[in-house]
Amino acid sequence: MDNLCNICPNNCNVDRNNKIGRCGAYNDIKIAKYYLHPFEEPVVSGKNGSGTIFFTGCALRCVFCQNYELSRNTRGKIVTPNELADIFKELEDKGANNINLVTPSHYTYQIIKALEIYKPKIPVVYNTHGYEKIETLKDIDPYIDVYLPDLKFKNPTVSKRYTGKENYFEIASNAVKFMMDSKKKVIENGLIKSGVIVRHLILPLSSNDSVDIVNWFIENKTNGAMFSLMGQYTPLGDIKNFKELNRKITKTEYQRVLNALYQLDESECFIQDLSSASENYVPSWDF
Ligand code: SF4
Repeated sequence: MDNLCNICPNNCNVDRNNKIGRCGAYNDIKIAKYYLHPFEEPVVSGKNGSGTIFFTGCALRCVFCQNYELSRNTRGKIVTPNELADIFKELEDKGANNINLVTPSHYTYQIIKALEIYKPKIPVVYNTHGYEKIETLKDIDPYIDVYLPDLKFKNPTVSKRYTGKENYFEIASNAVKFMMDSKKKVIENGLIKSGVIVRHLILPLSSNDSVDIVNWFIENKTNGAMFSLMGQYTPLGDIKNFKELNRKITKTEYQRVLNALYQLDESECFIQDLSSASENYVPSWDF
């Protein structure tokens, strides 16, 4: 890695040995929790759970972030690539169905180091906000089996309002296309071994944008990519200046997006119902 960090579309050009860029992360890997996560999609969590590692910092920083303390890097502990490799092994030994790297992109090259020290025998899942540079994805792609990207917004006005980034969809849709081209769907005994699951969280007052995202996915899906619709939005994060975000989504908003999804076969999508909209589904952080 170059001394100056430009590995994501923010292109901060900072030396992360002593400065932070938009992601808020220095070069040292920082994590807030690792455990067997029971609430990912059934093909990801299975019975044993997904061996999930939550990294701190985030290059996208949505105002409504459901993991706000992590994305703003206000907690966590530093681990070396060697220690991260040990965590992969520990989760694998505990019976994890996969290693699930949550918001990993700003630590891409440190994670590659860890995966070179220990490559788990179970699938490695890259779980991202989608705001990714293709060149960086190409570097980590050989180590990844499953992509779990968000596709959060299509309308540039919406993405600008909630992340400051007008180009979110342009960047994220290209990243998702790269991922879908790279990983063909393989499911064995109900568990994903390879492939892509595109996730979308419905936001209050944004169901038009959600329908556009669903339609884009239907037109562009390749290699058996699947769609995961999330209705769990809970008012969290720094939303005091965003009054429309201060409520859960309504049944009407949810049903509208669900109707668009009915064009997909059941085997191509996962649907989370409205009862998941609770702070109880936000994990408690360990570090
Ligand atoms: S990874 Fe962080 S420092 Fe590097 S370009 Fe992206 S936001 Fe900036």
